[in-house]
Formats: sequence, C-alpha cells, structure tokens
Amino acid sequence: MDNQNLSRPELTDVQEEKIETTLRPQTLQEYIGQTKVKESMKIYIEAAKKRKEPLDHCLFYGPPGLGKTTISGIIANEMHSKIRITSGPAIEKPGDLAGILTSLEEFDVLFIDEIHRLSKVVEESLYPALEDFVLDITIGKGAEAKSIRLDLPKFTLIGATTKAGALTTPLRDRFGIVQKLELYSVKDLSTIIKRSSKILGVEIDQASCTEIARRSRGTPRIANRLLRRVRDFALVLADGKIDLKIAKYALNQLEIDELGLEEIDRKMLSTMIVQYSGRPVGIEALAASLGEEIDTIEDVYEPYLLQIGFIARTPKGRVVLPPAYEHLGYQKDRVLMALLAPMLLASRKN
Ligand code: ADP
Repeated sequence: MDNQNLSRPELTDVQEEKIETTLRPQTLQEYIGQTKVKESMKIYIEAAKKRKEPLDHCLFYGPPGLGKTTISGIIANEMHSKIRITSGPAIEKPGDLAGILTSLEEFDVLFIDEIHRLSKVVEESLYPALEDFVLDITIGKGAEAKSIRLDLPKFTLIGATTKAGALTTPLRDRFGIVQKLELYSVKDLSTIIKRSSKILGVEIDQASCTEIARRSRGTPRIANRLLRRVRDFALVLADGKIDLKIAKYALNQLEIDELGLEEIDRKMLSTMIVQYSGRPVGIEALAASLGEEIDTIEDVYEPYLLQIGFIARTPKGRVVLPPAYEHLGYQKDRVLMALLAPMLLASRKN
C-alpha cells in the first residue's frame, strides 16, 4: 500500500487484511465508540436470544473503514453463531445466492458487503429468503422449466453499504434494523490506536495517540494504517518507541497535514476555489477535473470534508466553506479579486 492510498479506507491488500483481522475487536465491549449503535444492538441481541430466534436482518451504512464488517462479526459472536462473508458483486447469479443460502445453518449470519451492488435478479431472489426463509428455484428451461420452493434455515442477513440511498426500497424495507455508523471522535480514535498498539506490541505515549487520531479522518481503518506507518519510522529512526516527535515527523513525511488532509483533498479544495472560483460545483464536473471516480469522491473524500465544515452540499453543487480557504492559506477576497480583475479591466477598456 503506497502513501496515496493511506486515506482510501476502501482499498485493502492481502497483507493489510491479515493485520486488520488481528486488530478487529471480537466483542461489543471491545468495539470502541458508536455508543448509540452499540447500545441498541446489545438490546436487540439480548431480545433475540431470549426469544430463541435469530436476530432480525440488519443494515449498516456509512463510509468505508468505520467498522461495518467488524460489528457484523461481533454480532455473530454475541449470538454464538457463525458468519459467512460475501459481497454484492461476488454474487453474480441467483444460482450463486442459492449455493450460499442452502449452505447456511440455523441462526448463521450472512454478511453481504456492498449490498447496493447486488444485481436486480439476485436481489429479487433474496426477498422470499429474507421474509419467509424460503428460496424459489427454477429447474430446467423453457416449457420443461419447473419452479420448486426450498425451506432455508432461519438466518440473519447483515448488509453493509457506503450508499444507503442506492438501495432499492423493497430491499431496504426488509431490514428490521437499520444503523448508520458515524465518523469517530479524536478521543475514540485515540483509544483505538492505544488498543491496536498493545496488540502490535508497540510502545506509544498518549500525545502520539492523539496526534495520529487527529489525522485519521474519523476512520479507524486509517488510524490503524497510520499507526503502522509511524511504527516503521520509529523502528528505523528511533528505538521503536513512538513519541510525539517521531509521530509528527512520520505523519509530515507521509504528507498528511494536521487535520488528516492529503494531497488529493488539497487538490480537490483548490480546484473548487481556483478553477471554479468558489462557486457551486457539480460532482460530475469535479470528478472530471480531478480524474477521480464520482463514487470515490462521494464515499471517501467528501464525508470527512463535510464533517469538518470544509465543504457543503447545496442544491446547485458542492461549495467550499471559509475554514477551507483559511486552512489552505487562500484569502477568499483575494481569490475573488484575482478572478474578477481581468473582467473589470476588460469592462474599463470598453
Ligand atoms: P468497514 O467494514 O466499515 O469498511 P471494518 O469493519 O473493516 O470497516 O473496520 C476496519 C478496521 O478498523 C478493522 O479492522 C478494525 O481493526 C478497526 N475498527 C473498526 N471499528 C472499530 C471500533 N469500533 N473499535 C476498534 N476498532 C475498530
């Protein structure tokens, strides 16, 4: 994983996935932050256990790296059930879904990441499974085709998505529990960093935990990634211990500023300020100017910039707000003057 991908929590490689597994909390108690979600899930899990029924189907949504997969694993643990993990794009045909559903056991959790990317036919064949725990399958073709109904074990579907709005209403309505995960506070991220350092066997002081947390864009996956990069610097340049000096040095070398912004964020903001003169910009135009996918801007960069009040969404498009001008060292009036000057000169000449 190179520096450019540090702020892209949706990108993970094999090595990274292995480390993430070791850092993943296993119980609700270990799951830091997201208090509201945790408290309500605790109740729903207890109630389901008391009724001796599987937990209702759950949908978790929010930006990548916030702990949707982690909480799903925890739910399975707390329900004493097994989890089967797959994703929307991996289930290509109804037959793939049938294979997965028929291999489940009573009370298992089926986790479908990026559930908004299920194809229409697969999604439709999921409905009876969610509602009545049955699956309709067609055998044969043409006039010979026969539809048979299979009973399925009672299971819990957990769907995760970065785009709740992209889910169809019939699918969304089939989830009894819908939870939004929020970006984490610096305090919670700092606790996550402290916990991860313990697991990784790295010595780190409180000030460094806070420093890394402040630059982690509210996202645990980024916090853990930055911790591991800072750990490398500490190992090579110091005695392996992370103190504030080495943490700041490493983060600066990684070109992550005090608010966690990277080159691409700065480029996006200055494009909006200079190229679009601070006027509202449509997401398509912005994506084209930056050479980025619309989805990446919406799911990865924007949530944090919105959260810290650097941009706002208006009906006419995205606008940059004053704190962003200040952070990047632009003086709003001067930018406007620089842009207006040629027009004023031209009108005087006429
Ligand atoms: P998502 O599924 O939302 O993309 P993950 O569940 O894969 O995110 O979380 C990414 C990593 O962040 C996990 O490996 C875990 O180590 C860490 N993490 C996420 N949420 C928490 C949390 N609440 N407490 C501690 N660590 C967390």
